[in-house]
Amino acid sequence: MYPSRFRYEAPRSLDEAISLLHDGGDYVKVLAGGQSLVPLMKLRFASPELVVDINNVPGLSYHRAQSDGSLHIGALCRHAELERSGLLKTTQPTMAAAAPLIADPIVRNRGTLVGSLCHADPQGDWASVVLALGGSVIAQGSGGRRAIPMAGFVTGPFENVLAPDEIVVEAVIPAASGTRAGGYLKLERRVGDFATVGVAVALETSGGKVIRAGIALTGVGGSTIGAPRRRRP
Ligand SMILES: Cc1cc2nc3c(=O)[nH]c(=O)nc-3n(C[C@H](O)[C@H](O)[C@H](O)COP(=O)(O)OP(=O)(O)OC[C@H]3O[C@@H](n4cnc5c(N)ncnc54)[C@H](O)[C@@H]3O)c2cc1C
Repeated sequence: MYPSRFRYEAPRSLDEAISLLHDGGDYVKVLAGGQSLVPLMKLRFASPELVVDINNVPGLSYHRAQSDGSLHIGALCRHAELERSGLLKTTQPTMAAAAPLIADPIVRNRGTLVGSLCHADPQGDWASVVLALGGSVIAQGSGGRRAIPMAGFVTGPFENVLAPDEIVVEAVIPAASGTRAGGYLKLERRVGDFATVGVAVALETSGGKVIRAGIALTGVGGSTIGAPRRRRP
């Protein structure tokens, strides 16, 4: 099926992208890797009036550690870049375990971690990983910049708290207080499928003790489910 008619813009700066979204009418969409949005448009589950392609916006294609130990992943950092990353292999075991399990190599070459978080698919793998690690996203819109913890970002299946003119510029994984350990387990019917169920575990240890444990579940509810500590009654 062909998508409904839509206007396409490919701005060359973040400010231009935000102002296009701001002035763009009732139903506007950001396009990053297009690996979720384009299939939805072809099926006419999504019929935006305006698509703002951010692939020409410079400075969004990165993942890097800051001096404080936090990890920053830009809006155009592809799954494949994370799969190949030496930085993740040495410092982020939960992310390194998940990266090769996202879809297939073709999707990983185009799709982005930030796009996956924004898409808010209950079966998206990165949302569980970022939630388990206590991460957040940085959104920029006509009202300025704000940090949104992953725990409060998704409001339901395929829904998030972004305003129509906000773009997520990066995801942030906070520095660890101890030594990181962890992994991502995914049950899939065939290699490359979405998760039937997945679980992300992110531990920080110090002096032989676990000082932080983050657990999040993929594909078992209307959105990614965090498993915070609960006191016994
Ligand atoms: C065959 C196939 C198999 C797949 N298998 C898996 C899998 O096993 N696990 C998995 O997790 N995912 C899977 N996916 C989804 C894939 O990971 C997508 O790449 C990802 O969900 C979306 O990233 P994207 O960059 O392609 O986003 P897009 O498709 O460009 O956008 C998705 C949504 O997010 C919004 N968006 C994107 N970027 C931003 C931004 N910076 N700011 C604000 N809004 C934004 C868009 O407006 C849109 O609503 C699969 C996809 C396909 C086609």
